[in-house]
Order: sequence, then structure tokens, then C-alpha cells
Amino acid sequence: MPTPIPTPGGTRAPAHAPYDLTGRTALITGAASGIGRATAVLLAGAGAHVHCADLDPDGLAETAALAAEAAGAGSGTGAATVHPLDVTDRAALRAAVAAAGPLDIAAAIAGIMHTSSVLETSDEDLDRVLDVNFKGVLRTCQEAARSMIAAGRPGSIVTMASGAVDAARAGLLCYSASKAAVVQLTRTLATEAGPHGIRVNAVAPGWIRTPMTGRHGADVQQRTEAAMVRMAPLGRVGEPEDIARAVLYLASDASSFMTGQILRPNGGVSMPW
Ligand code: NAP
Repeated sequence: MPTPIPTPGGTRAPAHAPYDLTGRTALITGAASGIGRATAVLLAGAGAHVHCADLDPDGLAETAALAAEAAGAGSGTGAATVHPLDVTDRAALRAAVAAAGPLDIAAAIAGIMHTSSVLETSDEDLDRVLDVNFKGVLRTCQEAARSMIAAGRPGSIVTMASGAVDAARAGLLCYSASKAAVVQLTRTLATEAGPHGIRVNAVAPGWIRTPMTGRHGADVQQRTEAAMVRMAPLGRVGEPEDIARAVLYLASDASSFMTGQILRPNGGVSMPW
């Protein structure tokens, strides 16, 4: 008999298998593409009903079909609900959370890349990147945590940071600053939400092959991937599914004593030597 999971409101019987999300409700932002899509599909396959939010309605529809297939439900039978929205729009996020009902899981994955040197960075560049990558995650965390607290549910919130917070790279000021802010948000919210039984952790991926990294152009992509393969003890770059598995771990009871942590799935590139 597995040990019950202590929560401030008593105990919760763990799922028979710790990665089983049967009966859980999850909100996933950035779910139309890349890491967010892979996460939505994996969580649906693990039994969750996934509420998929993103700017891109066509991408969301494709994700919903894949999630339904992963859940074994067949397309359109209810493994996924789509919410086309912008994470810079507080009211839209609030409406999606209200429509979803009490949340057990939130994965704040939506994000954008931006490159410019420090001297060429404008106020507008910085405002835009922070609005999506930091404040978008903050809004998602706030709305999700309020939903979990109101329902008295011991939830799990997963944020998306980046390996960029561990290194200085020319051109990445706005992006890495926004992700460093996500790390501090994660740790701070973990301390404040812990007494409600809510866990908050971040994933900080290395280089992952997604449409975002593809936008650097074929040349930069090839050179960066070759460098990452050389640096990574595992000898490859990451795929979206590698990161989705890290999110599943943090979202599920498998990580029941983890909070305020930064998980770094990166093939080993950030190990000191
Ligand atoms: P992706 O394929 O571009 O997916 C990001 C998704 O977020 C896209 O569907 C995008 O829509 C959506 N999005 C962007 N701005 C939004 C907004 N304001 N409101 C709602 N949705 C929005 O990128 P990815 O590589 O999967 O990245 C996912 C997350 O992982 C990001 O936070 C990224 O910073 C982080 N990350 C990625 C890597 C990597 O190597 N790929 C490494 C570390 C961290 P549009 O396409 O319409 O803009």
C-alpha cells in the first residue's frame, strides 16, 4: 500500500502509480507548439484532462487531436480543451482558468525568444520579452494558485525557465533576464504556496529542437547543435518529449517532496568540470 501524501488539509491517497494523472485537471500555456505541445500530449496520455492555451488556434487544434489520441480517447472525445489566448491578457487567462474548473496542475510554458546586444536593446524589446516570458508566467501562476487554493487542492505548478540563466551569452540579455525572473518567481511562490499544499518548481532546459530554436535560422541552428552535442555527455540535443517528461515528473506525485527546485534536463551540458 503506497504511503499517503501529507497535505495541509489532511492526506491525499496517491495514485497507484506515481505518474498516473487520472482525474487531474491541467492548464498548459504554450501548448500549440514544441515543448508545450509535447507536455500536453504526455499529460493527457498519463490521464489528465489538459486545458491547452496559446496564441495559435490552429496549433491548439492539432495538439488537442494528438492529446486525445494519446489518451486513447479518439479525436474530440474530451481529453483536451483549447483556449486561444495571449498570456499578456490577464482577463483571458482568468476566464480560461474559470472555465477549466479547479486545477490540479499548471504548466506555464508559453515564451518567446529575442536576441539583441545590450547596447542595441530598446525599452520596447525588454518590455515585450518580460511581458510574455516573466509576467505571462506570473499571471498564469497567480490564476492557477488562486484556483487551487480556493478549491483546497494540493496542486503542482511548473514554470519554464532556461539553461540561459546559468550562462552569459551575447545577445541573450532580455531572454535570460526574463528566465532568471521566472526562477525567482518559482522559488518565492514555492515558499508562499507551500502551506496550501501547492508545489512550485521550474524546468530549465538546454537546447531543445523546436520551432523556437528553428527560428534562429539553419546556419545558427546547425552550429549550436554541433556545439551542444560536443558539450553534452549524452552526445545529443534535446527533443520536446525530453522536457515533457521532466514536467510530468514535477506535475505528478512522483515529485511529492519537491518544491522550489530547478530541474535541468540538458544532456549534462551544465555540469561543472
Ligand atoms: P515554441 O515552439 O515557439 O512554442 C512556444 C509557444 O508559445 C508557441 O506556440 C507560441 O505561439 C506560444 N506563445 C508565444 N507567446 C505567447 C503569448 N503571448 N501568449 C500565448 N502563447 C504564446 O517554443 P519552445 O521551444 O517549445 O519553447 C517553450 C518554452 O520553453 C519557452 O518558454 C522557452 O523559452 C522555453 N525554452 C525553450 C528551449 C529550447 O531550446 N527550445 C530551451 C529553454 C527554454 P506563437 O508560435 O504563435 O508565437
